[in-house]
Amino acid sequence: MTDRRRDIPGTDTVLADPRLVKAAGVFGRPAVKRSVLTAQQKARDGHIEPEQVIDEAVANLPATLKPVINATGVIVHTNLGRAPLSAAAREALLAAAGTTDVEFDLKTGQRAKRGRGALQALQDAVPDAGGVHVVNNNAAALLLTAMVLAPGKEIVVSRGELVEIGDGFRIPDLLASTGARLREVGTTNRTHRRDYEQAINENTGFILKVHPSNFLVSGFTAEVAVHELDVGVPVVADIGSGLLQPHPLLPDEPDAASMLRAGASLVTASGDKLLGGPQAGLMLGHAELIERLRRHPAARALRVDKLTLAALEATLRGPSPPVHSTLNSELSMQRAEYIVSRLPEGEIVPSKAVIGGGGAPGVELPSLAISLPESYAARLRTCATPVVGRVEHGRCLLDLRTVQPEQDETLIAAVLACT
Ligand SMILES: *Cc1c(COP(=O)(O)O)cnc(C)c1O
Repeated sequence: MTDRRRDIPGTDTVLADPRLVKAAGVFGRPAVKRSVLTAQQKARDGHIEPEQVIDEAVANLPATLKPVINATGVIVHTNLGRAPLSAAAREALLAAAGTTDVEFDLKTGQRAKRGRGALQALQDAVPDAGGVHVVNNNAAALLLTAMVLAPGKEIVVSRGELVEIGDGFRIPDLLASTGARLREVGTTNRTHRRDYEQAINENTGFILKVHPSNFLVSGFTAEVAVHELDVGVPVVADIGSGLLQPHPLLPDEPDAASMLRAGASLVTASGDKLLGGPQAGLMLGHAELIERLRRHPAARALRVDKLTLAALEATLRGPSPPVHSTLNSELSMQRAEYIVSRLPEGEIVPSKAVIGGGGAPGVELPSLAISLPESYAARLRTCATPVVGRVEHGRCLLDLRTVQPEQDETLIAAVLACT
């Protein structure tokens, strides 16, 4: 066996790599150098090959929030930051990063309504809404709703809609944290109009309809639609996913426009799920209610920053974001064949992608995956541009539906670096 330690590149050679030069400008040279020394040591200890030292040093940089290729087949992946932004949204948030006219009218030189461009774009996308407001996320939207409509009062909600969102967060607990009381009605599988009617009294703040966005209840079930809930109190619909209008591929997924037309006073939704934009809580509803929400003292604590407003406006006005192309496009066999032709191993297998992250449970979209030996999974995650696939039946599957076509070359390079 030859001693390969002599092939380990010297510190200055590694530091000259353009990616590390750039990183030194961001994190400082000492931090980057530590990462290089660690990579060299790994090579000396025989854990990696000398050729891998530079990539290893890049992978070890002290940053999180690195770009990651989502090859999981889960379109809206919460752990991977949910919706990837469109190029237009990225440009918009970069442009707004400096000083910007977020609350200023350049024509008159006067103060202007904060985020008016994003709000107008949302209003234009859903003409059925009398008014719109945007907060930090959907959880914040629900919090503000409870503070405005149910202080010291009751929120009537079906037992079939007491949802845990993820990471242990439960919508009922969130609402109760405002001091409102939850009045649960019906059963897990069946709730009727009379259940709501019997629960309503002078202490009722509002009825909340929550879309069970991450599970399915099937069998002997019944729920009451928003249009049947004309019982004299405001109805708030938490639709979760942020579809603004009906989507032909997702017939069971509620959308904001339909909910408002069915009589909801207010609809709340996330900006970073099926809408394909930044994290945000969208609130659409009756004009006077929106005004009360905007005026509540807590609204200031829940407001979004200029970067979010910029990205949201561009998502709503600009070309359709990646979530939509990922959802709507046909996957071509040629694309999969091209990728495999560039790899030393791997085969194309049929796969099923899902919406994930709070939207359209049970919906499966036909997809194609590159199947590799399982040992690739961990190595791909620690590549210079990490690739996250999924492990199934002892294979590492790279699902192409969630990989943006412009990421294909990076994906190929990552697999080659792991071979
Ligand atoms: C995702 C989801 C939420 C939470 O939204 P965030 O934007 O993550 O705060 C609330 N309700 C439903 C129905 C959801 O699907």
